[in-house]
Amino acid sequence: MGLDGGCYCGALRYTAEGAPVFKGQCHCRECQYISGGHPNAVMGMPAATFSYTKGAPKTFTRKDLPNPVTREFCAECGTHILARSPGVPGAVLLKVGTLDDPSVYGGPQMVIFTCDKQAFHHVPPGVPTFERVPG
Ligand SMILES: [Zn+2]
Ligand SMILES: [Zn+2]
Repeated sequence: MGLDGGCYCGALRYTAEGAPVFKGQCHCRECQYISGGHPNAVMGMPAATFSYTKGAPKTFTRKDLPNPVTREFCAECGTHILARSPGVPGAVLLKVGTLDDPSVYGGPQMVIFTCDKQAFHHVPPGVPTFERVPG
């Protein structure tokens, strides 16, 4: 599967190939900042097939956490493109909303970090949920 996407202003564009390694819905408190308050829809793609075709992202990594993710986002418009997580090596965790066609996501295979779920968040029926992450 070939995927293209980019940020809201168009300064960043990317492409990725292959089968998704992860399709998740994350309720963690950190994601609530990035998403605007709702859970984050994330599609993991093989990092080896991912590249920026236009622009270079600004990155942010928290210094106060033992295994922080690194977030990559547009310095112009602030759109968060992806996270790279030590817990999911070899993958980029793309924000589904940055895909040219977000419908390819289809929905999450799992719902994670329900420990931080807000009362106004919705979990799709029939999808496995985890208080944090599986395993
Ligand atoms: Zn932008
Ligand atoms: Zn999260």
